[in-house]
Amino acid sequence: MKRIAAFGVTLVCALGLASCATGPSKEQQLVSKAVEAVGGAQAIADIRTISWKGTIKQWEPEQSDLPGGEMRFCNEAQLEGAIDVQARAARTDWVKNFAYPAPRTFTYSEIVTPSAGYVIGIDTNGRNAESMKANPPAHSMSGYRLAATQREGRRANVSALLLDMLFNPERVQPAADIVAQGRSYPAVAYQGLIVAFDPQTGLPARIRSLDYDNIWGDVTWDLVLSDWKPVGNVKVAMSRKAQLNGRVVSDFTFSDVKLNQALDAKRLAIPGDVLAHAARPASGNVPYQWVIRRQYIGTYLDSDNASYDTRAASPGLRLQELAPGVAQVVGGSHNSLIVEMSDFLVVFDAPVSDAQSQWTMKAAKEKFGGKPVKWVVLTHHHMDHAGGVRAMLADGGTLVVGAPAREHYLKVLAAPATRNPDLSPRSYAAVQIMEVTSSNVITDSRGKQVMMYVMDNPHAKGMMMGWVPEAKLGWITDLWSPGTPLPPKPNPALASVVSTVKRAGLQPDRFAGGHGSVAPYSQLTQLVGQ
Ligand SMILES: [Zn+2]
Repeated sequence: MKRIAAFGVTLVCALGLASCATGPSKEQQLVSKAVEAVGGAQAIADIRTISWKGTIKQWEPEQSDLPGGEMRFCNEAQLEGAIDVQARAARTDWVKNFAYPAPRTFTYSEIVTPSAGYVIGIDTNGRNAESMKANPPAHSMSGYRLAATQREGRRANVSALLLDMLFNPERVQPAADIVAQGRSYPAVAYQGLIVAFDPQTGLPARIRSLDYDNIWGDVTWDLVLSDWKPVGNVKVAMSRKAQLNGRVVSDFTFSDVKLNQALDAKRLAIPGDVLAHAARPASGNVPYQWVIRRQYIGTYLDSDNASYDTRAASPGLRLQELAPGVAQVVGGSHNSLIVEMSDFLVVFDAPVSDAQSQWTMKAAKEKFGGKPVKWVVLTHHHMDHAGGVRAMLADGGTLVVGAPAREHYLKVLAAPATRNPDLSPRSYAAVQIMEVTSSNVITDSRGKQVMMYVMDNPHAKGMMMGWVPEAKLGWITDLWSPGTPLPPKPNPALASVVSTVKRAGLQPDRFAGGHGSVAPYSQLTQLVGQ
């Protein structure tokens, strides 16, 4: 067993740091006090393994029914984990019961080591090529997912983090107090995390990172620790809530924690053939919020590009011409539709990220003679179909949304976005927002028209369908994914497409979609009826 001779303030002085002449800094005092409150450096250093069980519930604010409304409840899961502290290897076994976007259960395991990550089983509807090829299903983590999982693991293993801070005092930096629920918590910054302490107990109360969200821009991402209970010779926060901008989106409770149990090393090992091709942890701009929260709804595409599977047979986005002057962005998990008008373009949906929108605008201009995107039509407000809205407005386009979404977008576009990896911050105060209550038509100088219809539907309030009369082509997102297999029985989502077509008196030949590709409308009416 490793013994610690000197620690805390004593160690800092032994290293001859300048601060000792004037006593330990405020930051060093906070860290030392927290280490003592958790059980002391020796007790923490004696933790070799952690075996745990717990339950979690997760919500997604940007999959709400109403724009800016109640968060969507996503899943409730039972978890079991093992951590080898020395090897920095962890395994988590999930049984995740989803309520949204569809009820289903994913049973899978994650293994994370310093150099690679591995997923055993199916954990998403958006499986990548590697997972599809493997039998039984398994895949190595992308560098994005590995980096995000490692960061969250570092945050969650609070006692180890504190010990790290104690022994690396030169890397502990001052931070402004964190104010939450009317209380002020003194804080320190350490390697991308801000640790705030309870002024009474000295225990860490909240561990924050400053993240970027594709809808809300600069956001705070906090792990809020409470219900500290003795486990062996240390104290463990049994309750851990994740807060996005102060809203609880994940609520975890330990049901059991055991220290220094023998672990089966094989269960924490990644197979050699997987290790050989597995991605290293990504550095730089990791889209943490995308990676973390897409897993809440079980749709995460595990890839080092948020838009498409980098390990697909022919990876990347491309334009698919559907009719003269009409092109669909395909090749990724989320699509857009571009319609060429006499002297401008109309784009339906701005999915995933500003990087994807930048690709779409560049491709559209190359294909359609540099015409500006004058109308940006969003079928609905969900983060995965609207996360690239800022870049799509670069030509000074008007934003078209279904009622009631105007207030939501005023707030979104006013939110600070200084940490956007794809786009320099700018003001969107001059952006015109057109809110469609029932239907709307965009007409060009030659009389060509593009329409949109607000839908009575089960997915999102203010959801719109697009319509390009000249091509007899509809545009639909999330309610139907044209070109993918239809379910054996009709459902309310598919029925809402047919009823909107009927209400609008349209005669579509085909529909293209925000997911999938393009398909004859007759496929849908054969299932749902006219
Ligand atoms: Zn949606």
